[in-house]
Amino acid sequence: TGPSPSRLPAPAVSPAIDPSTDSHLFLEAVTKNFGSQAVLKGIDLSVTRGGTTAIVGPSGSGKTTLLRIIAGFEAPTTGRVSLSGEAVAGPDGWVPAHKRSIGYVAQDGALFPHLTVGQNIAFSLGHIPRARRKERVAELMTMVRLDPDYAKRRPHQLSGGQQQRVALARALAHEPQLMLLDEPFSALDAGLRVATRRAIAEVLKEAGVTTILVTHDQAEALSFADQVAIMRDGNLAQVGNPFVVYTRPADRATAEFLGDAV
Ligand code: ADP
Repeated sequence: TGPSPSRLPAPAVSPAIDPSTDSHLFLEAVTKNFGSQAVLKGIDLSVTRGGTTAIVGPSGSGKTTLLRIIAGFEAPTTGRVSLSGEAVAGPDGWVPAHKRSIGYVAQDGALFPHLTVGQNIAFSLGHIPRARRKERVAELMTMVRLDPDYAKRRPHQLSGGQQQRVALARALAHEPQLMLLDEPFSALDAGLRVATRRAIAEVLKEAGVTTILVTHDQAEALSFADQVAIMRDGNLAQVGNPFVVYTRPADRATAEFLGDAV
């Protein structure tokens, strides 16, 4: 006779070979203190490979600090971060930012104003032969839906939305596996914001890049991401798909925060 049903081993919840449950980024009890201020108070988060996660919450809740820890610009005070199963921060190891296969786009795009658009993008193409760079710049510009003829222009000759596409092209030049977007649309006016957000979401989906978007804009988070993480005062109040988070907020504060999203 075999073991009784209650003694059978539990079924594997997430077999490593199943791509649908392949966790790309894993955060475990991540905290961050600046002096005596606890900015992150124990963050657990799992992001699926190729998925899009929005971290949304009010200003000062710790979103940028969390993104900077994922990027490797800051170390957590305690807790662990792993990428594709490899410990990149915490007691088990440290992998510096430039070795994490990450692209980063900041709110203002952070383009070099004195360089042309093409030179801005080529700045991130140091790893390919000089003779191929021009062609690769044109490929990247086409990828982000920018006319390659704009390569000769300076950033200030482009609209805000176009500048953010240049920033994205530059961040994609390294062919990162993970793209981190810190409020990339918030400096754009409303019409441009929606169009740019749609274009960028499409580009990243096509490229199959795992994406994390930080925003204070609830509607943006709900429409951009397949996983929404609500940040409040250094904690994640709720993590789930946008429909569930919107229709079944975990608590009253989350409901109120999401209340004016649509
Ligand atoms: P958010 O992105 O949600 O607006 P931040 O992560 O930028 O939040 O900031 C959270 C808190 O951490 C704020 O009170 C901010 O002043 C503080 N903070 C962020 N970075 C630093 C730093 N380098 N040194 C000291 N305090 C910081």
